[in-house]
Amino acid sequence: MEDWEQEVDSINWKTMLAEIDQALLDNLAAEIGFRSYENLENASGLVAEDYHICHLSDNRWAFWNPHTYTREDPLFFDEKDTVIDHIASMFGLEKEKVEQLRLGLEQVHQANHCQYCNYEFHPDSGNTEWDTNKYCSAECAMESVLHEMKEDFVE
Ligand SMILES: [Zn+2]
Repeated sequence: MEDWEQEVDSINWKTMLAEIDQALLDNLAAEIGFRSYENLENASGLVAEDYHICHLSDNRWAFWNPHTYTREDPLFFDEKDTVIDHIASMFGLEKEKVEQLRLGLEQVHQANHCQYCNYEFHPDSGNTEWDTNKYCSAECAMESVLHEMKEDFVE
């Protein structure tokens, strides 16, 4: 009986750790402007060693790392050149590698800003069900229509 209890205890502990991690990652995502960690990951490109880069809708660049997040906040840059300089000096990149990095950053799709929920999101170009320039999801597109209808009704 005791053994069984111990096992349950350790399982609960593991789940709890995973939940803390998930909460931490969602926190990181929220700090950069995303609804969930998954959304942040989808909108970002991998630079090196778990360092990711994301191009936000307001033109800023966010440089983040899930493993160092507990001690380091994500960094924000206004200019692409400043991010490149930062990464180049951080990893001691040679000129050739810096050019590769520049090309890599050009592949990173700029995120869109949802006009309903205000979160950043990665536009899915294959999607034709709603306006992905404006809304992150079918729910937000729908809610905004309902919202407008309600406002018309009140007036
Ligand atoms: Zn939205």
